[in-house]
Order: sequence, then C-alpha cells, then structure tokens
Amino acid sequence: MNAEGIIRENIRSLVAYTSAREEFSGQDVTLLDANENPYDTGYNRYPDPFQRELKRAVARVKRVDAARLVLGNGSDELIDMLVRVTCEPGRDNMIVFSPSYAMYEVCGHVNGVETRSLDLDANFEPRWDALPGAIDGHTRLVFLCSPNNPTGNRWPLERVRELAGRFDGWIVVDEAYMDFATGGEPSGDPLSAVSLLEEYPRVVVLQTLSKAWGMAGLRVGICIADPALVTYLNRVKPPYNINSLTQRAAIEALADEETFRRRVREIVRERERLYRAFARVPFFEAVYPSEANFLLTRCAAYRELYDYLVANGVIVRVRHVPPFLEDGLRFTVGTPGENDRLIQLLEQWTRP
Ligand code: PMP
Repeated sequence: MNAEGIIRENIRSLVAYTSAREEFSGQDVTLLDANENPYDTGYNRYPDPFQRELKRAVARVKRVDAARLVLGNGSDELIDMLVRVTCEPGRDNMIVFSPSYAMYEVCGHVNGVETRSLDLDANFEPRWDALPGAIDGHTRLVFLCSPNNPTGNRWPLERVRELAGRFDGWIVVDEAYMDFATGGEPSGDPLSAVSLLEEYPRVVVLQTLSKAWGMAGLRVGICIADPALVTYLNRVKPPYNINSLTQRAAIEALADEETFRRRVREIVRERERLYRAFARVPFFEAVYPSEANFLLTRCAAYRELYDYLVANGVIVRVRHVPPFLEDGLRFTVGTPGENDRLIQLLEQWTRP
C-alpha cells in the first residue's frame, strides 16, 4: 500500500486552512492581512505557522532534513495528530503496549479508535513474535516507546526494523528519552530509529525538548517522518500551535549544545549512582537498569513508601500496571542534592 492508502480518507481530501501571511516572507511592508493589533507589544504578530527558524535549529541538532519535521505543542499533541491522520474511527485499530506511556491509549479512546493493548513480557519487551497475531487489515498504527516509560529499557532497533519490513502501517517510535541512552549524541546515532527512516518510510520517530533539553514548560514535541506524512500532519495541525515565546526560547536553547550534553551526562551519572544506592535498599524487590532519566523499582509496600516520601516532601510516581507491574515506583533522577535527600529518606525508612 502506498502512503495515501493508510491516511484517513477525510484527511486525504481535506483542504487545509491557510493562515494569513503563509505565502509571504518579505520585510519592511505594511501588514494589514491578519487582523492583528498594529501596536507593538512584542507579541502583537502571529507566530510563524511553519516554525521555519526553529525547524532549522532542530534539523541542525538532530542532523535530519527540516522537510521531515513536524513540531507539536509537546509530543502529546503529535501523538494525537498521528492517530487522527491515520485511523478511521470505528473501523481502524492501533496497537500499544503495557506498561508503557499511557497517552497512546488515551488518544486512541478520545478519537474513537480501537486500541489493542498487548502486555510486555517479563523483560519489559514486546512479544515480537505475537505481534503479527494482533495485527489485521485495519491496523494502521503501532506505538513503540524506546527507552520505554516507565520501565527504562530500550527496545532493540533490529526488532523495529523487522517489524517495519513486514507491517504495512505506521510504526511510531517514541524516543522521548533517547538522549539519555545516546548521551546526547544526535539522533543519527545508530541507537535511534531515525537511522531507519530512509529505508522504511512508514517509521515515524517522536522526540521532545521536554526531557534531556530541559524545556518541558515550553512545549515542543518533534516528529521526524517521511515528507508525505509530514504534509498530512501539517494539514491537521492548528496553524499557530507553537507560540512566539516558545519558538524564540527554543531556538536560543538549541544553540547551546554544550550545556545540553553536560547536563545529560550529569543526569546519566546520577542515574547510575541512584541505581547503585537503590540496589542496597532492602525493601526494593527489584531495581531495573534504565537508559532514561528515571528508575523503576518494585516494592511490596509501595503505597506506604509513597506516602512516607510525600510526607517528607518528595513526590515520586506510583506505577501499578498489572499483570507484570503491580508494585512499581518510578523515580525521576533529580539534582545531586535532591538524590542525596531521596537516598537518605530511603535509608531512614522503617517498613511498617
Ligand atoms: N512520550 C513519552 C514516552 C513520555 O514519557 C512523555 C512525557 N511524560 C511524552 C511523550 C510527552 O512529552 P511532551 O508532550 O512533553 O513532549
């Protein structure tokens, strides 16, 4: 099937909204086209709907062609757009895994798209061999998450490649945490599914500035995809989904790759220190190695431990996802001082 065959019909025939000034990029002109307020507040003009300058900065850092990029108000917006563009509600279906990032399934439900949730195996990996059995002629999307939230493990790129070779829909690889696996190397890095894009146009990679780049408050999600899919995503995208302040601040931050790499290295170092400290905690039944910026543990008394930490001003995330994760606690890596505090609290806890 060509790309058009796996795009929702109403999107294929959609005439996109064209915003004022879309065609125009000159200077020193009188702008009377967009019903803006003429008085300069710093923000009286609409932002660039195509985020051209920001895309150039992202393309440079990620070493990808800007024509492959769609930016979203966080990758959450991109997840929703991907479902809307590819799946016909009430007819098509999508595949997600559990435990993984819960938003894929939520977006499926919001859009009235059947969502098939498959349990990960005991190593927190998809049962790749069972996957073809869950796929049928109406499966349009498979959401993979690597490194996976909340388990922290990376899923082998080789398996993604195999799947891409035999599945006729879109494979979305959510790499929100990939920079912590590569140590901040560009996504041309062999660990990243970006390396599959040329060969497999149905592979779609999601990344974000929210994690390793430290800009969760700005809301910039990055979709790297085949230009044909980019065209369709642009059709459904709200024209001004990335505001002026965000575009400006993100361009500035992306210019400083050195700070970015230094912080990523620091977080990775702290993650490994926390891992070693957690391994000595007697009431953790398991501590899982992680390639992200968090660690997953199991603790039978996870509720009591959570309440104790909250009472002491430290908030962590309970992950109760049967059948393989009944008793999970996910700890985000903090600053060295915050991690010291966490370790100290764990050492002082007497299990009830
Ligand atoms: N994907 C994964 C795997 C995540 O864990 C998160 C954030 N928790 C997101 C996407 C969303 O990130 P954002 O919308 O901030 O880009």
